[in-house]
Amino acid sequence: MTATMKTFVMKRIGEVGFMEKPIPADPGPNDAIIKTTTALVCTSDVHTVKGAIGERHDHTLGHEACGIVDRVGSAVTLFKPGDRIVVNAITPCYKCHNCQRGFTSQCTEPLGGWKFANIKDGSFAEYFHVNDADANLTLIPSDVSDEAACYTTDMMSTGFKGAENANIVLGGSAVVFGAGPVGQMTAVGARLLGAAWSSSLTTFPTG
Ligand SMILES: [Zn+2]
Ligand SMILES: [Zn+2]
Repeated sequence: MTATMKTFVMKRIGEVGFMEKPIPADPGPNDAIIKTTTALVCTSDVHTVKGAIGERHDHTLGHEACGIVDRVGSAVTLFKPGDRIVVNAITPCYKCHNCQRGFTSQCTEPLGGWKFANIKDGSFAEYFHVNDADANLTLIPSDVSDEAACYTTDMMSTGFKGAENANIVLGGSAVVFGAGPVGQMTAVGARLLGAAWSSSLTTFPTG
Protein backbone atom coordinates (compact mmCIF):
# COMPACT_ATOMS: atom_id res chain seq x y z
CA MET A 1 0.00 0.00 0.00
CA THR A 2 1.37 3.43 -0.98
CA ALA A 3 1.81 5.86 1.91
CA THR A 4 -0.27 8.99 1.49
CA MET A 5 -0.04 12.57 2.70
CA LYS A 6 -2.39 15.50 3.12
CA THR A 7 -2.28 18.22 0.45
CA PHE A 8 -4.22 21.40 -0.31
CA VAL A 9 -5.21 21.55 -3.95
CA MET A 10 -6.90 23.54 -6.66
CA LYS A 11 -9.64 21.10 -7.69
CA ARG A 12 -10.58 23.23 -10.68
CA ILE A 13 -10.84 26.95 -11.42
CA GLY A 14 -12.58 28.58 -8.47
CA GLU A 15 -12.55 25.51 -6.20
CA VAL A 16 -9.99 24.37 -3.60
CA GLY A 17 -9.88 21.71 -0.90
CA PHE A 18 -7.83 19.12 0.99
CA MET A 19 -6.86 15.89 -0.73
CA GLU A 20 -4.87 12.75 0.07
CA LYS A 21 -2.07 12.01 -2.42
CA PRO A 22 0.82 9.51 -2.51
CA ILE A 23 4.03 10.73 -0.84
CA PRO A 24 6.46 11.62 -3.69
CA ALA A 25 8.62 8.75 -4.89
CA ASP A 26 12.40 8.85 -4.65
CA PRO A 27 13.85 11.95 -6.37
CA GLY A 28 15.84 11.98 -9.59
CA PRO A 29 19.66 12.14 -9.27
CA ASN A 30 19.81 15.95 -8.93
CA ASP A 31 16.62 16.40 -6.91
CA ALA A 32 15.28 16.16 -3.36
CA ILE A 33 12.14 15.34 -1.41
CA ILE A 34 11.33 17.85 1.33
CA LYS A 35 9.20 17.33 4.45
CA THR A 36 7.32 20.61 4.79
CA THR A 37 7.51 22.57 8.05
CA THR A 38 6.29 26.04 7.00
CA ALA A 39 4.46 27.42 3.99
CA LEU A 40 3.05 30.80 3.00
CA VAL A 41 0.02 31.65 0.88
CA CYS A 42 0.88 33.99 -2.02
CA THR A 43 -1.38 36.19 -4.11
CA SER A 44 -0.17 34.04 -7.02
CA ASP A 45 -1.99 31.08 -5.41
CA VAL A 46 -5.15 33.19 -5.41
CA HIS A 47 -4.62 34.21 -9.04
CA THR A 48 -3.97 30.57 -9.99
CA VAL A 49 -7.22 29.43 -8.38
CA LYS A 50 -9.04 32.21 -10.24
CA GLY A 51 -7.71 30.80 -13.52
CA ALA A 52 -4.73 33.06 -14.32
CA ILE A 53 -2.63 30.20 -15.77
CA GLY A 54 -5.52 28.15 -17.06
CA GLU A 55 -7.38 25.11 -15.82
CA ARG A 56 -5.72 22.73 -13.36
CA HIS A 57 -7.28 19.64 -11.77
CA ASP A 58 -6.40 18.41 -8.25
CA HIS A 59 -3.18 20.44 -8.50
CA THR A 60 -1.30 20.99 -5.22
CA LEU A 61 -0.92 24.73 -4.57
CA GLY A 62 1.95 26.59 -2.85
CA HIS A 63 5.44 27.70 -3.84
CA GLU A 64 6.81 29.37 -0.66
CA ALA A 65 8.02 26.80 1.88
CA CYS A 66 10.66 25.64 4.35
CA GLY A 67 11.25 22.08 5.41
CA ILE A 68 13.56 19.26 6.37
CA VAL A 69 15.41 17.35 3.65
CA ASP A 70 13.86 13.89 3.60
CA ARG A 71 15.69 12.25 0.68
CA VAL A 72 18.25 13.39 -1.91
CA GLY A 73 19.29 12.04 -5.31
CA SER A 74 22.64 10.34 -5.86
CA ALA A 75 24.24 13.44 -7.47
CA VAL A 76 23.23 15.93 -4.75
CA THR A 77 26.38 16.92 -2.82
CA LEU A 78 25.49 19.99 -0.72
CA PHE A 79 22.49 18.67 1.24
CA LYS A 80 21.61 15.54 3.20
CA PRO A 81 18.54 14.16 4.96
CA GLY A 82 17.79 16.09 8.13
CA ASP A 83 19.05 19.48 6.88
CA ARG A 84 16.70 22.41 7.70
CA ILE A 85 16.27 24.32 4.47
CA VAL A 86 14.32 26.99 2.61
CA VAL A 87 13.28 26.39 -1.00
CA ASN A 88 13.26 28.95 -3.83
CA ALA A 89 9.75 29.78 -5.05
CA ILE A 90 11.10 29.62 -8.61
CA THR A 91 13.36 26.66 -9.30
CA PRO A 92 15.33 27.22 -12.54
CA CYS A 93 17.45 24.45 -14.02
CA TYR A 94 20.77 26.35 -13.58
CA LYS A 95 22.11 24.39 -16.57
CA CYS A 96 20.67 26.13 -19.65
CA HIS A 97 22.36 28.94 -21.58
CA ASN A 98 20.45 31.73 -19.85
CA CYS A 99 20.94 30.27 -16.36
CA GLN A 100 24.67 29.80 -16.97
CA ARG A 101 24.98 33.48 -17.97
CA GLY A 102 23.37 34.51 -14.66
CA PHE A 103 19.89 35.25 -15.99
CA THR A 104 18.06 32.56 -14.02
CA SER A 105 14.75 34.42 -14.28
CA GLN A 106 15.03 33.82 -18.03
CA CYS A 107 15.63 30.09 -17.66
CA THR A 108 14.54 28.61 -20.95
CA GLU A 109 12.38 26.02 -19.26
CA PRO A 110 8.65 26.82 -19.42
CA LEU A 111 7.74 30.11 -17.68
CA GLY A 112 11.31 30.85 -16.62
CA GLY A 113 11.61 28.04 -14.11
CA TRP A 114 8.30 28.56 -12.30
CA LYS A 115 7.30 24.97 -11.58
CA PHE A 116 5.55 24.71 -8.18
CA ALA A 117 1.76 24.75 -8.54
CA ASN A 118 2.23 25.49 -12.22
CA ILE A 119 3.69 22.53 -14.11
CA LYS A 120 4.07 20.26 -11.05
CA ASP A 121 2.57 19.89 -7.59
CA GLY A 122 3.44 22.67 -5.15
CA SER A 123 4.40 22.79 -1.48
CA PHE A 124 1.02 22.84 0.30
CA ALA A 125 1.67 19.21 1.18
CA GLU A 126 3.40 17.20 3.88
CA TYR A 127 6.14 16.37 1.34
CA PHE A 128 7.12 17.87 -2.02
CA HIS A 129 9.72 17.35 -4.76
CA VAL A 130 12.41 19.96 -5.62
CA ASN A 131 14.40 19.84 -8.87
CA ASP A 132 18.15 20.58 -8.91
CA ALA A 133 18.44 20.59 -5.12
CA ASP A 134 22.05 21.83 -4.89
CA ALA A 135 20.99 25.07 -6.64
CA ASN A 136 17.48 25.56 -5.29
CA LEU A 137 17.85 24.84 -1.55
CA THR A 138 19.46 27.03 1.12
CA LEU A 139 20.42 25.99 4.66
CA ILE A 140 18.63 28.03 7.33
CA PRO A 141 21.03 29.45 9.97
CA SER A 142 20.34 28.16 13.49
CA ASP A 143 19.30 31.60 14.75
CA VAL A 144 16.69 32.11 11.99
CA SER A 145 13.22 30.60 12.40
CA ASP A 146 11.43 28.75 9.62
CA GLU A 147 8.68 31.37 9.82
CA ALA A 148 11.18 34.17 9.07
CA ALA A 149 13.15 32.22 6.45
CA CYS A 150 9.98 31.44 4.53
CA TYR A 151 9.63 35.12 3.53
CA THR A 152 12.89 34.94 1.57
CA THR A 153 11.32 32.51 -0.93
CA ASP A 154 9.29 35.16 -2.71
CA MET A 155 7.85 38.12 -0.79
CA MET A 156 11.18 39.51 0.44
CA SER A 157 13.23 38.60 -2.62
CA THR A 158 10.60 39.94 -5.04
CA GLY A 159 10.41 43.23 -3.14
CA PHE A 160 14.19 43.55 -2.90
CA LYS A 161 14.62 42.83 -6.61
CA GLY A 162 11.99 45.45 -7.42
CA ALA A 163 13.99 48.00 -5.43
CA GLU A 164 17.21 46.92 -7.19
CA ASN A 165 15.57 47.37 -10.58
CA ALA A 166 14.61 50.95 -9.65
CA ASN A 167 18.30 52.04 -9.71
CA ILE A 168 17.87 54.08 -6.52
CA VAL A 169 20.66 56.58 -5.88
CA LEU A 170 22.04 57.43 -2.42
CA GLY A 171 19.46 59.58 -0.65
CA GLY A 172 17.11 59.29 -3.59
CA SER A 173 13.36 58.97 -3.52
CA ALA A 174 11.22 55.92 -4.14
CA VAL A 175 7.47 55.48 -4.28
CA VAL A 176 5.93 52.09 -3.62
CA PHE A 177 2.37 51.56 -4.76
CA GLY A 178 0.58 48.89 -2.75
CA ALA A 179 1.72 48.17 0.82
CA GLY A 180 1.09 44.44 0.90
CA PRO A 181 3.90 42.08 1.94
CA VAL A 182 5.85 42.52 -1.32
CA GLY A 183 5.32 46.30 -1.29
CA GLN A 184 6.59 46.55 2.27
CA MET A 185 9.65 44.49 1.35
CA THR A 186 10.21 46.82 -1.62
CA ALA A 187 10.19 49.77 0.80
CA VAL A 188 12.71 48.02 3.07
CA GLY A 189 14.86 47.20 0.03
CA ALA A 190 14.74 50.82 -1.13
CA ARG A 191 15.83 51.93 2.33
CA LEU A 192 18.72 49.46 2.37
CA LEU A 193 19.82 50.73 -1.05
CA GLY A 194 20.02 54.30 0.22
CA ALA A 195 16.61 55.89 -0.31
CA ALA A 196 16.06 58.60 2.30
CA TRP A 197 13.64 57.73 5.06
CA SER A 198 10.10 59.03 4.84
CA SER A 199 7.20 58.11 7.06
CA SER A 200 5.22 57.50 3.91
CA LEU A 201 7.37 54.41 3.32
CA THR A 202 5.54 52.67 6.14
CA THR A 203 2.13 54.27 5.84
CA PHE A 204 -0.67 51.84 5.18
CA PRO A 205 -3.50 52.81 2.90
CA THR A 206 -6.44 53.96 4.95
CA GLY A 207 -9.07 54.25 2.25
ZN1 LIG B 1 4.68 33.69 -4.12
ZN1 LIG C 1 17.77 27.27 -16.94
